Amino acid sequence: MDYVADRSGYDSMVYRRCGRSGIKLPAISLGLWHNFGSVDPYATQRDILRFAFDNGITHFDLANNYGPVPGSAEENFGRMLATDFKTYRDEMIISTKAGYPMWPGPYGDWGSRKYLLASLDQSLRRMGLDYVDIFYSHRPDPETPIEETMSALDQAVRQGKALYVGISNYSAEQTRKAEAILRELGTPCLIHQPRYNLLDRWVEKDLLATLEEKGIGCIVFSPLAQGLLTDRYLNVIPSDSRIAKPHGFLKEKMLTPERMQALRSLNTLAGERGQTLAQMSLSWLLKDQRITSVLVGASSVAQLKDSLRAIRNLKFSEEELELIDRLSAP
Ligand code: NDP
Repeated sequence: MDYVADRSGYDSMVYRRCGRSGIKLPAISLGLWHNFGSVDPYATQRDILRFAFDNGITHFDLANNYGPVPGSAEENFGRMLATDFKTYRDEMIISTKAGYPMWPGPYGDWGSRKYLLASLDQSLRRMGLDYVDIFYSHRPDPETPIEETMSALDQAVRQGKALYVGISNYSAEQTRKAEAILRELGTPCLIHQPRYNLLDRWVEKDLLATLEEKGIGCIVFSPLAQGLLTDRYLNVIPSDSRIAKPHGFLKEKMLTPERMQALRSLNTLAGERGQTLAQMSLSWLLKDQRITSVLVGASSVAQLKDSLRAIRNLKFSEEELELIDRLSAP
């Protein structure tokens, strides 16, 4: 059946300005790292993407290697763009990245101009797009001069193949360097994409302050720690979960007895707040206005529906925050 978007989702979503830029992003964005590859049912992917857009999620995050097989998430998303979302392209922010292994040999990995620009061309072909909204350097490359990586991002914008650029997994110090080079080149750094969740707080040391100072937006990945910060593993390991899948990056050894005890206590606290553990974990991130958006994954419409309710309650008492800190301490 032909898809017609439900624009009422724009009223229920919250949009936050991305750093000091002209762009606003939904407080909750959708990532296609898992669950959108050639190994995943296309009908479920379609349902999740339609539901997301109907509920005000305008930002979809991809990378060259998302799948498996690598590239297949972009292909599947391209199929959706060509059908369902054909008339909605200008209402969407689509991002992709290059930086992790994509093809054999010395030019299919890391941060050279050669790799980044060839990879962007391939991503555009897979998605059937003329341009992406955001093109990222997926990780810093210790061997390539940062000037080369940044000038490749700038070149992508000048070629009209990306509107904005971003960096991912860069430290605060690397971010300062990248930001200065990009500013000099005339292509400001729009956004940084770091991992941040209750169980991994490395960004709090100096990255968040750096991003605020430099006017760079922050979209955090794995805000649910790949599913640990949900009710998914509280009792058993479900057969359709990321841990149970052979290609998943989440491993059973992460479920230590200490962690399970902490997750159960966090789950109890979430219940007392009238939230699920997933909702409380997302609310906890979004209470900080420096977080432009949380980039969630989902393997079902029900999960995304649950996560979306997080934006309804971003308030925490001092006691709740202290308890959360105690329970989520490493
Ligand atoms: P999350 O931490 O949000 O984990 C998503 C997983 O959690 C889902 O696949 C699902 O697990 C489970 N889940 C989600 N919502 C719920 C819910 N409400 N209730 C119960 N379980 C739930 O994010 P991801 O790790 O998937 O990362 C999100 C995005 O971030 C990626 O798609 C990608 O775009 C980006 N990313 C970027 C990286 C980078 O280096 N820049 C690295 C990693 C991610 P299950 O599948 O088991 O059902």
